[in-house]
Amino acid sequence: MSEDTIFSKIVRGEAPADIVYRDDRVTAFRDIQPQAPTHILIIPNKAIPTVNDVTTDDEAMLGHLFVVAAKLAQEEGIAEDGYRLIVNCNHDGGQVVFHLHMHLLGGRPIGRMVQRV
Ligand code: 5GP
Repeated sequence: MSEDTIFSKIVRGEAPADIVYRDDRVTAFRDIQPQAPTHILIIPNKAIPTVNDVTTDDEAMLGHLFVVAAKLAQEEGIAEDGYRLIVNCNHDGGQVVFHLHMHLLGGRPIGRMVQRV
């Protein structure tokens, strides 16, 4: 069984968040430490820890994450200039919250795709 995370609590309304969209499959809310003028997290309501845990049953929901991302980018006024969608997986991917999520970042040039560290 997957561990309960802060994101599951946000989905259940047990933790506060600036929610910008929700439906029966996904919830989107502003990142608490925004890295760009628009920084929204779009997450499945179902707690899937990482991309490694997705199954074919999740395909429609995963596609829906992109549909919601595109809709929110329009609403934020960043669609035309552009934005970046990021999904981190596990330690080397930089994942810190183990409830699968898509970052929507925009409102400024986001820079190189991968930073050398
Ligand atoms: P990751 O590195 O796992 O892909 O990104 C996790 C993101 O979740 C980070 O950008 C972090 O700022 C954000 N985050 C962590 N805890 C909270 C929280 O309690 N509320 C919100 N809104 N964002 C959070």
